[in-house]
Amino acid sequence: MFDVAIIGAGVIGTSIARELSRYEIKVVLMDKENDVSNGTTKANSAIIHGGYDTKPGTQMAKFNSLGNPMFDQICDELDVEYKRIGSFVLAFSEEEMKTVRTLYQQGIENNVKGVEIISGDKVREMEPNLNQSIVGALHAPTCGIINPWELAIAQAENAAENGVEILLNTQVLDIQKTMTGYRLMTNHQEINSRYVINCAGLHADHINNMVSQDRFVITPRRGQYFVLDKSEGGFVNKVVFQCPTKLGKGILITPTVHGNLLLGPDAQDMEDKENLTTTAENLKIIEEIARKSAAHVPAHKVITTYAGLRAEPSTKDFIIGEAKDAKGFINVAGIKSPGLTSSPAIAKHVVNILGGIIGELKEKDDYNPRRKRVVRFDQLSDVEKAQLIKKDARFGRIICRCESITEGEIVDIIHRKAGATTVDGVKRRARPGTGRCQGGFCAPRVMEILAKELGKDMDEIVKDSKNSYILTGKTNKGKK
Ligand SMILES: Cc1cc2nc3c(=O)[nH]c(=O)nc-3n(C[C@H](O)[C@H](O)[C@H](O)COP(=O)(O)OP(=O)(O)OC[C@H]3O[C@@H](n4cnc5c(N)ncnc54)[C@H](O)[C@@H]3O)c2cc1C
Repeated sequence: MFDVAIIGAGVIGTSIARELSRYEIKVVLMDKENDVSNGTTKANSAIIHGGYDTKPGTQMAKFNSLGNPMFDQICDELDVEYKRIGSFVLAFSEEEMKTVRTLYQQGIENNVKGVEIISGDKVREMEPNLNQSIVGALHAPTCGIINPWELAIAQAENAAENGVEILLNTQVLDIQKTMTGYRLMTNHQEINSRYVINCAGLHADHINNMVSQDRFVITPRRGQYFVLDKSEGGFVNKVVFQCPTKLGKGILITPTVHGNLLLGPDAQDMEDKENLTTTAENLKIIEEIARKSAAHVPAHKVITTYAGLRAEPSTKDFIIGEAKDAKGFINVAGIKSPGLTSSPAIAKHVVNILGGIIGELKEKDDYNPRRKRVVRFDQLSDVEKAQLIKKDARFGRIICRCESITEGEIVDIIHRKAGATTVDGVKRRARPGTGRCQGGFCAPRVMEILAKELGKDMDEIVKDSKNSYILTGKTNKGKK
């Protein structure tokens, strides 16, 4: 019997799991996928938003403002890549300057530090690659960029180190109320828990409707992106937005924490909650719109494209709280943008709600908030490299030539708690396959390492999701 069962191991579920791992309670974190962070958390803009574009008084505004300043400490404790580079919202006409002034006012009401309106000339002085047609902009210096899946993975690792049980490949199929709490029927086993926290992202409506009559609907809204080569990472220094539309924050140009350049996303309502395809048609429109900000944006230097699905709630705001008709069942649903930014503040709030229901939560004496990221071999000095190779020769074997990733780094992240079991799981943790060749050279070698370290056959190794097999079988059936 668990005290708390968390459904969904995205950035929200993992942040709550980590926050709860401070206390002397038995917590299980489960996900239907074969890795943490395999939902919306792995495919978004990766921005820690300033907080000026959420309507004052909403849950989104509240948690964005509270969440943004928490990232310095969290990323320090969890050793996650994060840069507070600031953002612009560009105006191309006097009409758009009205929007900029409204955003500025919202920023003041939402308590966003340092927000200011600047002239077009000042914008171009700070960002020489942006267009002459810019009239002015909102500048928000507290905006940041992060590696979102690294954050979720680090939170999961840290939560597991502090005693949280993680169950992957575990899909909640139904939930029943019991005398002592809830029974969760999954594809593997029944899990009994006194309290349930629903962090199931796009499927949170489905999970809520298993126990509550107070219904809501989550609609997937797809956004597509270009990732450009690292040679273009310095094209802009800040996150460059255009004025928001009713569908979202509009097309941005931003550097990533890894030094690439990102263009996107658009916004398209979908029916299928799993459709992550990108389309030439939408990408072409994204490129055209991005050129309004910077005519010479080097879209031809694209190395990959991807899409993410926003969990758009019928209530239009985050749905956070105990369901009215299901005691001890807490929804954390409809966590669309700025959900990543809001995640640490949401986690604290949910733990407070739970504390209010359970009574006082007792802190563990041995809770450790810190986690170390994998060694980045290419960032070491020659002396450090030599010392590491002397200790473990696997750090002397380069597997990914684009990013200079060694076998030692890959082996480390496979054997961690909540470690990698798939090719993309390795990619998200240690970065082989994120470079210019996109895994063309290193993927087979990563598969070999996974098979060896996990004691599996090569043809059992999947690319990402459960059935994404890469090899279909042996061609010579073992004949020499
Ligand atoms: C295009 C786009 C751009 C965005 N940009 C930003 C941004 O720049 N900044 C920002 O702050 N936010 C941004 N967001 C929002 C942010 O990505 C989300 O708010 C955040 O990732 C939501 O995390 P989550 O944990 O709620 O959902 P998810 O990451 O989707 O996690 C939910 C998990 O639940 C699991 N699950 C579902 N059903 C079940 C079940 N039945 N049983 C077990 N497990 C289940 C899923 O497998 C999944 O792993 C963006 C979103 C999109 C799509």
